Amino acid sequence: MSDGRLIVCATPIGNLGDVTLRVLDALRSADIVEAEDTRITRRLFARYDIVTPLEPYHAKNLERRTPQVVGRVASGERVALVSDAGTPGVSDPGARLVDACLAEGLAVEVLPGPSAIVTALVASGLPTHAFYFGGFLPRKAGDRRRVLESLSGLGATLVFYESPRRTAASLASLAEVLPGRRAVMARELTKIHEEVVRGGVEELAHDLASRELKGEVVLLVGPPPSGRVAPEVDEARLRSRVDEVVGEGATRKDAVIQVARETGLPRNVVYAAAVGRATEA
Ligand code: SAM
Repeated sequence: MSDGRLIVCATPIGNLGDVTLRVLDALRSADIVEAEDTRITRRLFARYDIVTPLEPYHAKNLERRTPQVVGRVASGERVALVSDAGTPGVSDPGARLVDACLAEGLAVEVLPGPSAIVTALVASGLPTHAFYFGGFLPRKAGDRRRVLESLSGLGATLVFYESPRRTAASLASLAEVLPGRRAVMARELTKIHEEVVRGGVEELAHDLASRELKGEVVLLVGPPPSGRVAPEVDEARLRSRVDEVVGEGATRKDAVIQVARETGLPRNVVYAAAVGRATEA
């Protein structure tokens, strides 16, 4: 039987010491390593004397490269996959390659290790029993607000990746839509300039508004205090969201179903808040 497989290798998110022995073995013994940024991976290779050939696999070439890499695995090669930082497949092109290999019935092995999500979550001190990872927030303020509104009812810590340039704008949206929550900005984790700023979301938005941040950022917001949204805030938002969906052409019943799905709230709660009052008025 062929030994061909895709080996997904988690690599450090900063400190090069945070690599596992299994990942080093896999990178040394692979036929080829597919790297999101070969310059970054070369630093890891230099530190651990790894000389395996590297090929670029990133967002801009994945359409062309995916079938080629799948072909290599299918022909019996051991192909390792690494991203810029952390676990490939989390908010980077790796997920596409994993899916393509699985679709062809090929073996995929995942070697666990660092990821910025879990590192930031634990460093934040916010509740960890339930968390929601939202990837990168939308760039446009209106889209960002809509996404955050749809998450406002979740009894979970919210975790977002963010670019340093957009951190202030995203914090402003978080403060606007989720006031009164605890929030954390985690930057440059495991690196020399690691910084974790904790506080109220409004306080953080204010304090970081005028700072020019550098490096890599994770933003986190704690769950609503009781695990539920304050009814008066929630009712107003639910009503306006239901009205918005109706305005887009849905029936009121369908709008309630859609908003219940978006917020994770029971339909009768959405109905009572949005439709009940609307029909009384
Ligand atoms: N696959 C990676 C993982 O498992 O964490 C994440 C890839 S994603 C394209 C890159 C984002 O992760 C950055 O924009 C930043 O939000 C976050 N990130 C990566 N390294 C980080 C670090 N050392 N400190 C804080 N955030 C980091």
